[in-house]
Amino acid sequence: SIENLFDLAIKQIQESENIYIVSHVQPDGDNIGSILALWMALKNIKERVFILKTDEIPSDFLFLPNINIINEYNHDDNIDLLITLDTSDESRLGKNKDLLNQAKTVINIDHHISNNNFGHINIVDSNAAATGELVYKLINRLKVPIDKDIASCIYTAISSDTGSFMYDNTSAETHEIAAELIRTGIDKGNININLYQSRSIERTMLFIKALETLKLYFENKVAIVKITRSMVEEANAKMEDTEGIVSFIREIASVEVATILKEFNEEEIKVSMRSKRYVDVSSLCANLGGGGHIRAAGCTINSPIDIAEKLILNELEKVF
Ligand code: 5GP
Ligand code: MN
Ligand code: MN
Repeated sequence: SIENLFDLAIKQIQESENIYIVSHVQPDGDNIGSILALWMALKNIKERVFILKTDEIPSDFLFLPNINIINEYNHDDNIDLLITLDTSDESRLGKNKDLLNQAKTVINIDHHISNNNFGHINIVDSNAAATGELVYKLINRLKVPIDKDIASCIYTAISSDTGSFMYDNTSAETHEIAAELIRTGIDKGNININLYQSRSIERTMLFIKALETLKLYFENKVAIVKITRSMVEEANAKMEDTEGIVSFIREIASVEVATILKEFNEEEIKVSMRSKRYVDVSSLCANLGGGGHIRAAGCTINSPIDIAEKLILNELEKVF
């Protein structure tokens, strides 16, 4: 049971000396919030706890406490315990994937339905709205008090993955946990402004360019936008500034599936998909080598952007 797994994880934490928490590729609010919260909690009981950076931290999250302790892996370090958070499979660790073999023990804490249980201890619960919920439970079981800083990070994690408590995955328990976090005295107004009301001019310009590429298919049930590298350049933006576009186009009344194609390289297209009511985009993306959640998933396609679009339309045709 999940209770047993929490107990096993706690025993492992207590017995380990060098503990590393590692982020996932293109880290999001759930990943970063969960990592910082767990790090702060573990620092209460353990001396040697570190966070390893897989990709750059998006500027959205620089307001979080202790964000600067996230560091590159130093290849001389030995790892007794590696903890992955919000990471569905090995490939999501990017350049840090090999650490899974170097670590004596791996704890995998996650909520993706597509998680493949790559750890020695796998606390995987696809009913959790965010990995932050599982981190909240783990910290409580560790008997570490959840202070304002820890609470701010968990709140950020949960708010990010639930679209500010709006998406299907938001449960009564999600709200109960959020209530407990708010009671610690967090400044949720400030968190909300940082997460949802701090869009840069550059990001806004990229939004406008993205919307100009909007195409609708299958009786307007599918919306697709494409972001090329030159669009990012012209907007003086970064690829991470595409965050939020795909959920924005899902808001079109007729749309069931929203898709964004991001051209990281000429033959490296990162796809994000969101659904509204009934399409399981996790299994759709799994057909293309990716995965995720039922209402939010992704994959990477190694072909030019127009071919990638055709491949996606082929998959969508099976659904519509
Ligand atoms: P996003 O579209 O925001 O990048 O990701 C949405 C969800 O899909 C996230 O939970 C993420 O873990 C998952 N996801 C995105 N891209 C991939 C991918 O290439 N492989 C897998 N397995 N999951 C992905
Ligand atoms: Mn994530
Ligand atoms: Mn998540």
